[in-house]
Amino acid sequence: METIHQSTRKVIVNKGKKFLTSNVHYMLNSKAIEMPIKYYEAPDIKKQVDQLAAECEFFHVVPQFVYCVRSRGSKARRTIARIHGLGKLWQGVLNMPPAYTIEVISEIYDKMSPEDKEKTLVHELMHIPGGFGGGFRPHKGYVERKMVDEVYAKLKKARAERKSKLPL
Ligand SMILES: [Zn+2]
Repeated sequence: METIHQSTRKVIVNKGKKFLTSNVHYMLNSKAIEMPIKYYEAPDIKKQVDQLAAECEFFHVVPQFVYCVRSRGSKARRTIARIHGLGKLWQGVLNMPPAYTIEVISEIYDKMSPEDKEKTLVHELMHIPGGFGGGFRPHKGYVERKMVDEVYAKLKKARAERKSKLPL
């Protein structure tokens, strides 16, 4: 009777250990793979985006309908930021005007230099087409690295000129 009991316990203990081990693994895995993405308000990004759109003279961009969020827990490891648009179908069914949301991926974006941050936001803004209709301009021909660099260089030049004109 005692032997049976002991062996039963052993099995339970073994099972328990096994269960615990696999449970820990599961939790580690689920943390890495299934951690849900969370979005946070990003007034700092919004302020910068509005300023950059004005400085770059993107007059087609309607600041009122450009939202900004910061996300954490994205599975995308090489994405710094992305832009989302309220497409035509959603505008129709929700009876809403076109709108865009620029999302920065906190884990990557927040570690970047101020200049790279600005370039990233300019890049996202350049995806917004002239009609501000909720769709996107593709990378090819519109948002290539050299094009972003050009816009950014122009912006920096304008900043430097403004600064030199400031009264001492
Ligand atoms: Zn892009």
